[in-house]
Amino acid sequence: MTWPVADARGSQTNFPMSSLVSLVGAGPGDPGLLTRRGLQRLQTCDVLVYDALVGAELPTLARADAELIYVGKRAGHHSMTQDEINGVIVQHARDGKTVCRLKGGDPFVFGRGGEEALYCREHAVPFEIIPGVTSSIAAPAYAGIPVTHRDIASSFAVVTGHTASDDAPPERFPVADTLVFLMGVRALGQIVARLKQRGESDDKPVALVRWGTTTGQQTVVGTLETIEEEVEKAGLKSPALIVVGDVVNLREKLKWFDNRSLWGQTVVVTRSREQASSLVENLEQMGARVLQCPTIRVEPLPSSPELDAQIATLWKKEWVVFTSTNGVEMFWRKLEELRTDARAFGPAMIAAIGPATVEALKTRGINPDFVPESSISESVAQGLIEHGAAKGKVLIVRAQESREVIETKLREAGADVEVAPVYRTLPDLSNVETTREAIENGEVNWVSFTSSSTVRNFVEALGAGFVKANRDKFRVAVIGPITAKSARDYGLDPDVESAEASVEALAAALV
Ligand code: SAH
Repeated sequence: MTWPVADARGSQTNFPMSSLVSLVGAGPGDPGLLTRRGLQRLQTCDVLVYDALVGAELPTLARADAELIYVGKRAGHHSMTQDEINGVIVQHARDGKTVCRLKGGDPFVFGRGGEEALYCREHAVPFEIIPGVTSSIAAPAYAGIPVTHRDIASSFAVVTGHTASDDAPPERFPVADTLVFLMGVRALGQIVARLKQRGESDDKPVALVRWGTTTGQQTVVGTLETIEEEVEKAGLKSPALIVVGDVVNLREKLKWFDNRSLWGQTVVVTRSREQASSLVENLEQMGARVLQCPTIRVEPLPSSPELDAQIATLWKKEWVVFTSTNGVEMFWRKLEELRTDARAFGPAMIAAIGPATVEALKTRGINPDFVPESSISESVAQGLIEHGAAKGKVLIVRAQESREVIETKLREAGADVEVAPVYRTLPDLSNVETTREAIENGEVNWVSFTSSSTVRNFVEALGAGFVKANRDKFRVAVIGPITAKSARDYGLDPDVESAEASVEALAAALV
């Protein structure tokens, strides 16, 4: 299907229905500040065109088969001119693609979004604008500086540090109680001089915020008199913005983001990506910078006639045992593939090992009949036997490479046991190099382990020699006594051990 679109001169072109350029504001850095519509476009687009100031994790949210085009500056690479960027956007749209043009902050605040929209219009390409949270308000906010305040500032203005015509700030600044300068770090001297010239007092408060809203946020505060020296001392560079006005003084009381308990700490999380999210969330909520170094990943096993048959006869089992959330997730995928659902279990009783597995089942409408108190295989088997499992058919849903203790014990007790391996764990080396570098450079404060296997995999992936040589550069935090013992066995004596086996407890222990 096509639709007719009129260009700037009124002539009509027929476009594929699917052509659309979305100019999307990515927000200032914190990925949580992307709008819902922006996220929707990012997740569904055919082509993603993005810049340097877009948070690193956002492009990973695009479809796996989307084309990703980076158009920002990067050391050692030629960066595209605006004309080239315009050309890329329009060309893909004309090919019938949906293009998500993701820009830092808001697309119309010094983002050249206006120019890109005009170019689309001139070439009769349909476009839409999805505003974003601009850094000019959000970075000060994350530094505890409100750009207005009823008693202190009744207006604010956002000013560029260099205009298109020459590489300097505009000749005259607007009159406003708070001034925010973007792209102004290099011109700081000129900005200060001009403000003094127009009669601002030497003790007018000034703040610079770099990488605002991210875990790398850095803030320097001073006055018109002192700020250049302070910035020099702190070695603060771009990308940063400059806030000038009495509201800067509120930071002392309103600082909230960069004073949280784990602020400034970098924590390596070694869990698989599939399982890490709650730990990562907890740590980030406390202000930590999290470096994910999963050493394993979970992969579903291909369909097999055995599994299909097991699912078709689920209702004949006395017990179905789920040993992990991954097992629940992968098993449900198979149920869906076979176009069935929780009803397939019929009257079978269901057992779940561990609180997360119970949760995974509950969200799928199943309240387990039995949850063993301890997750140790021997006592799980014992508990199942006490619940009558020895007398009937039992299906155990688990990873391919699991220990066989439960099934062996049940068989010995007389049960008719079948096993349904639905996934396997494979090594994941995707972030190992980055983690090694960060450790070597002394950027890592903590490495956290949530199970014995994470310890073993981590040491194997980074190399025992490397870990030993760099052991004094980071501290080790573990969940529970069993993980602590494994850590010791691998020469990683824990500095902190959480008493309770939960990610909340681990995060709290780090504090
Ligand atoms: N459209 C963007 C601004 C683009 S101009 C927006 O609405 O935010 C780029 C300038 O924005 C940078 O030079 C810097 O001054 C500022 N900037 C962007 N992101 C920033 C951040 N996270 N922290 C501080 N300043 C930022």
